Amino acid sequence: MHKVAIVGRPNVGKSSLFNRLVGRREAVVADFPGVTRDAKEGVMLYQNHRIVLIDTGGLWSGDEWEQAIREKAEWAMEGAQAVIFVLDPREGLSAADYEVADWLRKLGKPVIVIANKIDSLKHDAYLAELWGLGFGAPLPVSAEHARGLDDLMDKVLEYLPEDDEDVPDIAPIRISFIGRPNVGKSSLLNALTQSERVIVADQPGTTRDSVDVEWDYAGQRFVLVDTAGIRKRPETAIEDFAMQRSQTAIERSDVIWLVVNATEIGDHELKLANIAYESGKPVIVVVNKWDLVPDDELKMVEKDLNQKLFHIQYAPRVYTSAINEYGIHEMLAEAMKLYEKWKARVPTAELNRWLGVWLMKQRVPNFQGRNLKMYFMTQVETSPPTFAIFCNRDDYVTRAYEGFLMNRIREDLDLAGIPVRLKWKQKG
Ligand code: GDP
Ligand code: GDP
Repeated sequence: MHKVAIVGRPNVGKSSLFNRLVGRREAVVADFPGVTRDAKEGVMLYQNHRIVLIDTGGLWSGDEWEQAIREKAEWAMEGAQAVIFVLDPREGLSAADYEVADWLRKLGKPVIVIANKIDSLKHDAYLAELWGLGFGAPLPVSAEHARGLDDLMDKVLEYLPEDDEDVPDIAPIRISFIGRPNVGKSSLLNALTQSERVIVADQPGTTRDSVDVEWDYAGQRFVLVDTAGIRKRPETAIEDFAMQRSQTAIERSDVIWLVVNATEIGDHELKLANIAYESGKPVIVVVNKWDLVPDDELKMVEKDLNQKLFHIQYAPRVYTSAINEYGIHEMLAEAMKLYEKWKARVPTAELNRWLGVWLMKQRVPNFQGRNLKMYFMTQVETSPPTFAIFCNRDDYVTRAYEGFLMNRIREDLDLAGIPVRLKWKQKG
């Protein structure tokens, strides 16, 4: 795995840079020194290379470059193939900056000097002083405005060893948004990509045509399919049109975000939940506009959700506010988790061990004195995980018993949140 460290004294913008590159927007960026406590690690994706970034920012306590900090930093940077040395030339260089430069020179790792907070071209004049550190041309960057990041990463790549492991294409996770108009899909999309590529507007018909929006997050590529469908607001036949469009989007995706308005759940959501279930794709229920729910109604709203979404009760829920950018990280983290599980393959030996356990846990159904007998279990498909159980009589299987098995499968095989399928095969 490639490893790159970020160093620099407090307040130069290391966390901001780290968050920009890794895509972790909810990490705290504060305005005074010494807020972050430890070295942070995050994975980013750049041109199909997964790179572990280490932010050593938390190791500094004040502005002093002390022995203790140096040792911790060396330990945290173990194995790093390059170092990004962040400076804030608008503040001017301090004695500590020169000390860090000397230390880096002794470490012998390749160093890329970046001048951060160069928010516009007129700031370029600040760069001159950084040549004096002796690491060559400084790169102008603005972590806050995402300026110069590609140049920086191109430079970083030059120092990383060729690595076969990273060469195969990292498959994107394809996701679709479903949900009725006005639940906040476009707003969530904006919060997710933090770009201006999609316009949020209250007026119908303000969009351009079909696009899949793509972005990286925590070393994973995401594609949101049919963002135009999200933006379309037909005045008539909303239901049919939206359903049809959702169906197509679902077919093209691996994971589904079913967005609901926390305070307004109706039949439409029920229908969408059914479509989602039938698709066999993992569903995440995104309960948006959570900011609008008063504290004393949280319990009631949750109860209502449980009732209405009973059919996909297995689906994990994420509570969000597109406006406050709350819950955005969870949406992505949950999608990554479910995607992995959806593709999972459980070994036959393990399945049959569990089948033995389940047989002892609950009485098997019987019919006129004859018991259901289960002989053997195997996984016949992935995406979604589909299991087959060989038995004496499939007509002995009751709904309740099947429900019990489904719950065991999800829990014991670590497939929570996945629309698992179970087939019965009669034998002998
Ligand atoms: P760290 O202590 O080095 O991790 O620095 P932070 O990332 O916490 O940033 C310190 C301060 O500088 C914060 O107030 C940031 O908003 C600000 N900052 C970071 N990057 C930029 C930038 O590119 N331009 C400007 N103008 N401010 C920035
Ligand atoms: P879409 O039709 O599902 O794409 O919905 P939009 O993203 O266009 O949002 C519809 C309206 O709800 C807009 O006025 C948004 O500003 C508002 N909205 C979206 N998300 C939230 C949220 O989390 N909280 C609040 N209070 N309003 C939201």
